[in-house]
Amino acid sequence: MTASRWDDDPDLGPIVVAEEVLRARVAALGEELTADYEDRPPLLVGVLKGAFVFMSDLSRAIRLPVEIDVMAVASYGSGTTSSGVVRIVKDLDTDLTGRHVLVVEDIVDSGLTLSYLRRSLLAREPASLEVCALLVKESRQRAPVDLRYVGFRIPGDFVVGYGLDVAERYRNVPDIRIYQGAVPVD
Ligand code: 5GP
Repeated sequence: MTASRWDDDPDLGPIVVAEEVLRARVAALGEELTADYEDRPPLLVGVLKGAFVFMSDLSRAIRLPVEIDVMAVASYGSGTTSSGVVRIVKDLDTDLTGRHVLVVEDIVDSGLTLSYLRRSLLAREPASLEVCALLVKESRQRAPVDLRYVGFRIPGDFVVGYGLDVAERYRNVPDIRIYQGAVPVD
């Protein structure tokens, strides 16, 4: 493996999920989704901004005529924890009625964001609603989460990269790393 410029950043700690491991898992999820949704191509709903890299790779790993929409949510909370009070900052353009919706999430920590999102999207009467989360933090869920597809279960450390940020930085790091810098205040 070649050294990455990110190796020299003192705020970045060990790699939690390496690029090639991400690539292989996303390909496997794509195969699984291709089989599961064969007769009912899904509408992928990406949750911005964190899911943009995962959504881009996952959508290309699904060999079906998927449609794509995005929404953005903001969660009120301190720098690295969410409060569960979620606001839709950008809503979907697509009517979900009767659609097979697959929500593409970056990371589930307490589960509060997802639980809010699920309720809000179910109220729009999709034919089905499942969630594909790239990362789930082990033993941290405070709200019930029904996750049909999970990329990786990881420990509770705050991580960045592959779409995940801290104060809008590090989204373009190609692997997932522990963030060990100062915690910014919202
Ligand atoms: P939850 O509501 O499940 O506690 O938090 C979910 C949201 O918090 C994620 O969509 C993400 O925006 C943020 N989040 C939770 N854990 C992390 C983390 O380790 N790194 C980053 N960058 N964001 C996180």
